[in-house]
Amino acid sequence: MAEPRLAVPSATLAAGALADAQPRALLELVRAHKRYESPGEVVHAVRDVTLSLGAREFVALFGPSGSGKTTLLLLAAGLLRADGGSVYFQGRDLSTLSRRAALAYRRTQLGFVFQSFNLAAGLSAEENVAIPLLLRGVEHRAAHRRARAALAEVGLERRLSHTPERLSGGEQQRVAIARALVGEPRLVLADEATGNLDSETGDAVLALLGSLPRSRGAAVILVTHDQRAAGYADRLLTIRDGRLVPEPAALDTTVAQKNHHPRAPGHRYPGGAAASTQPRTPPR
Ligand code: ADP
Ligand code: MG
Repeated sequence: MAEPRLAVPSATLAAGALADAQPRALLELVRAHKRYESPGEVVHAVRDVTLSLGAREFVALFGPSGSGKTTLLLLAAGLLRADGGSVYFQGRDLSTLSRRAALAYRRTQLGFVFQSFNLAAGLSAEENVAIPLLLRGVEHRAAHRRARAALAEVGLERRLSHTPERLSGGEQQRVAIARALVGEPRLVLADEATGNLDSETGDAVLALLGSLPRSRGAAVILVTHDQRAAGYADRLLTIRDGRLVPEPAALDTTVAQKNHHPRAPGHRYPGGAAASTQPRTPPR
């Protein structure tokens, strides 16, 4: 990786933010606005979005293609800067963070599952998942042990040495999920994280994501088109044309109720691995 090693102690951001007064929410967007400008065109991708996410809350975010879902997650991640309004993490305005502090935020507090996975080509699944830990200075063997455990949690203990080119789309997606979770982030932002999974694997991944608030005290925003996600979510949000709209997501309540067993571990991946919430050390 070209990025420099993290030079700030991991605890710096959290300690600083906690000193700022007791925050009500883990993440807050206050009238956040983002526009993309290109010659002859301005797209208002996120318009005046106000949203507050509790520390152990699971929110499912629905919306048609092009409605601003990815942009909203990128704002929350500090990967894009709002050009109106504010985004706060633990009460701290992300736009006031130095580059270094913003990097520390992403590396220590955040797990991001990119819609297009963003895996490093040529590196094995295990190496891809170990990267966030290595960047934080975790010792090589410990980082790889945790990477293997994270991959086992998404049912990929038999794909450790496969490079992305030798993995299916669904498997790549699960590597991306393992990489987002391996560092035990406080906030998980997952962009259509079950979009490439068959229904059985999708269920297991939803159960895993749904277990995070209780098992790890994490908050989750899952962007999805999958109505089954509603069964795991504390709250459903819908975005249209860049605005959060009050209408509930088009909900198939039968599916939602049937699945309303949030945070129950033990889902099985096809092939037999259980979606445990306990890190396990798989055989190499
Ligand atoms: P979603 O994830 O809901 O599909 P996005 O947040 O990706 O939506 O995009 C919201 C709107 O912003 C879309 O109209 C999209 O075309 C536009 N958009 C996204 N990224 C860019 C960009 N980098 N430059 C210009 N327009 C963009
Ligand atoms: Mg998107």
